[in-house]
Amino acid sequence: MKRIYFDHSASTPVDAHVLKRMLPYFSDNFGNPSSVHTFGQIAFKAVDEARLAAADFLNCGPDEVVFTSGATEANNLAVRGVMKAIRRRYKHDKLHVITSVIEHDSILEPFAELERDGVEVSHVPVKPNGVIDPEVLRGMIRPETALVSIMYVNSEVGSIQPIREVGKIIRKINEKKLRDWQKADSKKRGEKPRSILFHTDATQAVNFLDCNVKNNFLDLLSLSGHKIYGPKGIGLLYVKSGTPIAAMQLGGHHEGNRRSGTLNTPGIVGLGAALAKLTPKAVAADNRKISRLRDSLVSGIMKKIPDVILNTDQGIATPAHAHFSFLGVEGESILIALDLAGIAVSTGSACASQSLKASHVLVAMGIKVEVAHNSIRFSLGKHNTPAEIKKILTVLPSIVKRLRKISTEYGI
Ligand code: PMP
Repeated sequence: MKRIYFDHSASTPVDAHVLKRMLPYFSDNFGNPSSVHTFGQIAFKAVDEARLAAADFLNCGPDEVVFTSGATEANNLAVRGVMKAIRRRYKHDKLHVITSVIEHDSILEPFAELERDGVEVSHVPVKPNGVIDPEVLRGMIRPETALVSIMYVNSEVGSIQPIREVGKIIRKINEKKLRDWQKADSKKRGEKPRSILFHTDATQAVNFLDCNVKNNFLDLLSLSGHKIYGPKGIGLLYVKSGTPIAAMQLGGHHEGNRRSGTLNTPGIVGLGAALAKLTPKAVAADNRKISRLRDSLVSGIMKKIPDVILNTDQGIATPAHAHFSFLGVEGESILIALDLAGIAVSTGSACASQSLKASHVLVAMGIKVEVAHNSIRFSLGKHNTPAEIKKILTVLPSIVKRLRKISTEYGI
């Protein structure tokens, strides 16, 4: 049975071209990029090229790229590393940070840790379509605000957040703070004001959206290799030059003292190759293809299956996401039945699937807990085909019908 994969938000297959580029760095070119000899220099050159490809993709300088083990680490470094540096420098200041209610746990948990450590935390709510209102965020900003972190795309429903608008708001506030300080009497004014820093977790956005850090007024951006047809165990954090940041692990002095540990040369080469493939032209072509497939999936499901709620608002989401609640059936049961039929989907984020708690994202969107448990996420990728959509539209209606019958008969 040829299996069908509709779970690209969880992970993507490594592109053949990317794998080919990586392979020599596992074997012949295995040197440590920090070594001085030729083995080391060959590896260093490959890392350097990948760093340039990443910098080109983000429109930043190569020194502003910090390679990490993935987006979880990049997010931790962004929130904990930046706040550690700020708290050290502004020991006596009251500090405040802002994030949203729909972030990945690798953002929510570092923010919870900051709160336990005495930093004030505000969570921006989302509208029923899963998008924050930048004006609500603006209203939360205070003189003590040090960091704002808002994800670019939500992994569950695919909602796109207004990152550029938020970036503009923050930039304007920072510029005003600086102007007021410059205007003040030079003898009386204190230290230069601290800027509010802006981070985005772009993990789910990179395949689809503009990640130019200057266009989006960003100080920090996280991304991950395995969501973009690259390898697992590699990601990066963009850190704008001059941003205060403390390392989270000590002892190696790699990556400009921001992230210690021997560099993962094959992973870095793979990440660079995957990013280099994401040219605006390639992204636009893939987006067109994927959105056509997604739209036919959505219209087919809505037509063929009664009592379904579409939780993805196609107008403000990536072209790849389609998230549904099939009323009266557990999402887990649908997932298992589809897997038996050779089709892979998810009930939400792969990371949350170990817990039976309703998704915090769906609850934040105002979806009832019972309905949240009826959910299935499809996340399409560039290798999906119209025949695969046809197959799911043949298989899914009878699965839902059968499971609904069982749950009515047995009262479950
Ligand atoms: N942020 C988001 C939005 C994600 O979807 C994920 C992966 N599910 C991560 C962070 C973590 O990425 P990684 O697997 O590279 O640690």
